[in-house]
Amino acid sequence: MELAVFERVDRLQSFRHVAVRGFWNVRIFALFLLRMRPLSSIPAKMPISSPIQTFLEQLHNQYKGLREGKVASYIPDLMKADPDWFGICVVTFDGQVYEVGDTRQPFTIQSISKPLAYGIALEDSGNEKVLSKIWMEPSGEAFNSISLDPSGRPLNPMINAGAIATTGLIRGHTTEQKVQRILEVFSDYVGHELEIDESVCRSESETGHRNRAIAYMLRNFDVFTDDPMPSLEAYFKQCSILIHCRDLAFIGATLANDGVHPITARRAVGSAHIESMLSVMASCGMYDAAGEWLYSVGMPAKSGVGGGILAVLPGQLAVAVFSPPLDERGNSARGIAVCRELSTRYNLHLFNSVMPSRSVIRHRCTAAQVSSNRSRPAEEIALLNKYGQSIHLIEVQGQVTFGPAERVIRELIACADSAFAMILDFSRVPQMDAVASQIFLESLAALAEKGLWIHVTRSHHLPELSCKSQLMPSNTPSVRLCWEEDADRALEFCENRLLESLGNRHCSSLAVSMENCELFENLSPDELKLLSPMLSTRSFAAGDVIFEEGQAASEMLIILQGKVSVILTLPNGFTYRVNTCTPGMTFGEMGLLDRSPRSATVRADTSILALSLSAEVFEALLNEHPLIYAKLLGNISRHLAIRLRKRNAEVINSHL
Ligand code: GLN
Repeated sequence: MELAVFERVDRLQSFRHVAVRGFWNVRIFALFLLRMRPLSSIPAKMPISSPIQTFLEQLHNQYKGLREGKVASYIPDLMKADPDWFGICVVTFDGQVYEVGDTRQPFTIQSISKPLAYGIALEDSGNEKVLSKIWMEPSGEAFNSISLDPSGRPLNPMINAGAIATTGLIRGHTTEQKVQRILEVFSDYVGHELEIDESVCRSESETGHRNRAIAYMLRNFDVFTDDPMPSLEAYFKQCSILIHCRDLAFIGATLANDGVHPITARRAVGSAHIESMLSVMASCGMYDAAGEWLYSVGMPAKSGVGGGILAVLPGQLAVAVFSPPLDERGNSARGIAVCRELSTRYNLHLFNSVMPSRSVIRHRCTAAQVSSNRSRPAEEIALLNKYGQSIHLIEVQGQVTFGPAERVIRELIACADSAFAMILDFSRVPQMDAVASQIFLESLAALAEKGLWIHVTRSHHLPELSCKSQLMPSNTPSVRLCWEEDADRALEFCENRLLESLGNRHCSSLAVSMENCELFENLSPDELKLLSPMLSTRSFAAGDVIFEEGQAASEMLIILQGKVSVILTLPNGFTYRVNTCTPGMTFGEMGLLDRSPRSATVRADTSILALSLSAEVFEALLNEHPLIYAKLLGNISRHLAIRLRKRNAEVINSHL
């Protein structure tokens, strides 16, 4: 009975124990779940609104109440526009869109078609022919003024006379052929197919007596040599192409992006014509308000009586505004106000955004401060420390156009007299234009002709700089001018040439014996004797890959004779030599220390004689000969520390 009671108590206790344990287990599990919960139930973060988007919304709010201006009425159909329609859209050269308001409301492009048509005419008829028919002087007159320059040419392609003549210079004999060509190109600008608002077109054609008068005047002055009417009708159609504010901004972004649509990557216009198109937009795009516009907004722009305004900041972005009420000069009243505000707020004025190119030299130093990864004997290191300042290393950065290039070249010339070699690194130059590449090549060739060693490193992504055939004047690159993707090899090359010029025949790798190897420093003769049979001898031919990146590590090698290079493969496919090892040095020890795969490839530069210490032998030493094991580890650590210190010094140097 007692036993039974005890048994019960016992069972009860063990039940409680299980229950209590279970309770805690449940709690721990619940806590675990709680900890997990946030992953699935993190409250959705409020989307972060770009300050640019916020500013556009502010502007929209600020100007939607503006009651200035009247919707165009001279083309009856345009009167159907709602004066409250108001959209703003900014598109960057790479296609980022910021938009607010009625950015998808279709409207007719009207005069904003003029610069685009001008681009087509330049493409179809060539500069010379176009300029012989249409000049590029701002008229300071209204868009529909009946005026020609003294030689009988329209003053510019942005006023109607010039625009009608422009359409005449677009490929095609019939209205349809011209319109098809125009529609195709305009569609490339916006990234989708476009249509014509036939009703607006008819309305304009029925009332377009003034434009007809202009067209016949052009015929009179032989700007047209045959019937101008097909071209005039094509012009009416071109003006009646339907777009919306976002399309308009993409037209501008395409122009800002050198003629290539930022999303579809289709070229809408040849790069060579953009300068001409933007020039006439800048000087004549806003008709009789062109001067004031350039003064206060400072971007090439074009407006249309449909209520659109497009402003382009080359290489950066486009601003498009749509709001039908026009001021007395025929430009969208809200459009002008918004562009002005945007230009002021974001410093978009063309003449304001030119940054002086002071920061084009990212870093400069000499070979007295940094050295190549080639391991060298002490006397070579001493010579390089003493004379290395005649090898200049210059790292160029940023976009390089004429200004920044001139700045670097000036520096090169200034130190040329005392220089032995120059290494120019371009890995941080994303782009260099043709002019900058050319003046670089000219000056580098001149320096090389003078006897300097010139190395251009990491420039493979700059085709015009890497194109040796551009070399002036003889087109034969000097042997002293070299291109090298591995900056370290370039430095080693220059170091070697300098050492040679100092009469030093850089060290052929003499063989060393086991006791002179780094790994065996401080080992007693007895210890060396004991260790010796545990090592095996290995030999490799020049060019052999000794270790391959990613391979499992099973041994470390101690070089008795020859040289190896330790090479990393970079994400861009190029290789970078991180280190070299000469007789007496050990490689492959890192993989043995942490048992991880090889982190680099090791290649034999010459024929190699080496000792191999296998992973098993190394591990067995720990138990069998702990003192030897400790000494080996101490030596490995010391030499890793020396390498790390060298890297630290380089990091500091690269920030000087
Ligand atoms: N189609 C219009 C015209 O020639 C274009 C005018 C404009 O947008 N300024 O009258």
